[in-house]
Amino acid sequence: MPGRVVVVGGGICGLATAHRLVREGLPVTLLEASDQLGGLGTFFSSRDQWVERFYHCVMPSDSALLALLGELGLEDRVRWRPTGMGMVVDGVHRPFNSALDLLRFTPLRLTDRVRFGVVSLLLRRLGEGKDLDRMRTEDWLRGLYGDRVWHLLLAPMFGAKFGSAFGDVPALYLWQRLGRESNSSVRGYPEGGYKSVIDALRASIEAGGGEVRTSVPVRRLEATPDSVVVTLGDGETVRARHAVSTVPLPALRGIADEALAARLPDVRLPYQGVVNTLFFLRKPLSGHYWAPVLRSGTDFDGLVEMTPLTGSARYGDRHLVYAMRYTSRESELYREDESVIARRWTDQLLSIHTGLTAEDVDEVRVFKAPFVEPVHPLGYLADKPSVEVPGTPLLLATTAHVYPNVTSWNSSVELAGTVAGLLLRDARRSPNQENTAWSAESAR
Ligand SMILES: Cc1cc2nc3c(=O)[nH]c(=O)nc-3n(C[C@H](O)[C@H](O)[C@H](O)COP(=O)(O)OP(=O)(O)OC[C@H]3O[C@@H](n4cnc5c(N)ncnc54)[C@H](O)[C@@H]3O)c2cc1C
Repeated sequence: MPGRVVVVGGGICGLATAHRLVREGLPVTLLEASDQLGGLGTFFSSRDQWVERFYHCVMPSDSALLALLGELGLEDRVRWRPTGMGMVVDGVHRPFNSALDLLRFTPLRLTDRVRFGVVSLLLRRLGEGKDLDRMRTEDWLRGLYGDRVWHLLLAPMFGAKFGSAFGDVPALYLWQRLGRESNSSVRGYPEGGYKSVIDALRASIEAGGGEVRTSVPVRRLEATPDSVVVTLGDGETVRARHAVSTVPLPALRGIADEALAARLPDVRLPYQGVVNTLFFLRKPLSGHYWAPVLRSGTDFDGLVEMTPLTGSARYGDRHLVYAMRYTSRESELYREDESVIARRWTDQLLSIHTGLTAEDVDEVRVFKAPFVEPVHPLGYLADKPSVEVPGTPLLLATTAHVYPNVTSWNSSVELAGTVAGLLLRDARRSPNQENTAWSAESAR
């Protein structure tokens, strides 16, 4: 009988890992700190409907996630819809979808509009064969699009995700992102919301004999060559033959004991967190799923309107709009009180959408998350930490490990498949062997 596996973290990566292992007959215990599963894809209740705290959608290219949904019997429950993009510059919201939209996009000079269109069409191909992992995004894009487009559009737009470090992030990130989006305007949303996927994963794990525990923050993690000992908040200890941690690396360092901390990858990635405000509106905003917001006097630099994708009936005939700002968890904005952010961002939304009045805003909720986007340095592909912690039976499966793929549910599911495969291989090779530590040889 193979030994127990503990999975720390009940976001999509932990849930998908546990699901895979249980299906292969391994005894699994999943431990989640929060009282809800789902991690960054988790939800809250508004008018008896479950709503994601952070906007989420599925792309047609999300093959690992779609295969998982197939296993759960949910693949046919993804609703696919064409979605549009807008662009708010200087407080004016413009459509940004077709060649005609681009030609009418007066914030750019005509020559820049044409150049923007041509380069954007060819961008994926222009990156082929180049070492984009070692090329700064700014160097790559500025060379192709020119200084004006870089300053007016690209630097603020992509800087919105990585802050001031954006220019230094490897150009490979953007190239991969374009690959995920594949010029597709079609997006998907699970009919029962992301909660239905989370619930189905929990049901599958439990039906296979796995244990799922919530409200059990792991306070301490120790690893010897042949076991892992987890100490929970109330002092309870759980011993396991193998463990998988999906906890973001900086938080993992906070719970690892000294010996384990010394074995963790010596990669100190900065992370962007997010401040994200949800507006439940009594009328639609723009009909565009996504709109960057540039030079418009707002703290948020992007808007996502979910209703064109999900319909408004599920929100009590209200239209759901997310405003977001990616920022460090140490920033002033991140530390600001939620109610203050809600008030100020509501005023700012009304200032750029003059057709909207305060009476149109039915409900406002603010959510934050501290670890969302690892900010990768140049050459991260070669320096990416291994999923294996040498000399221990602990595997790491975090958003810092999915690069060059973009952080998404799809990438986490793919990573879950990798770590589950390694663990199964080891468990089958040595079901009775005491020492299960990973060798120093790493699987990246
Ligand atoms: C604003 C926003 C928009 C996004 N949009 C999309 C989108 O449209 N499509 C898409 O596919 N992806 C999207 N993502 C990205 C996606 O949500 C993440 O990539 C994915 O959820 C990461 O999953 P994870 O399981 O690796 O990490 P997490 O979701 O962070 O899960 C980690 C879990 O570990 C738990 N944990 C931490 N410490 C402990 C501890 N000590 N003990 C026990 N448990 C612990 C946490 O509570 C959490 O549940 C978005 C994310 C954000 C923030």
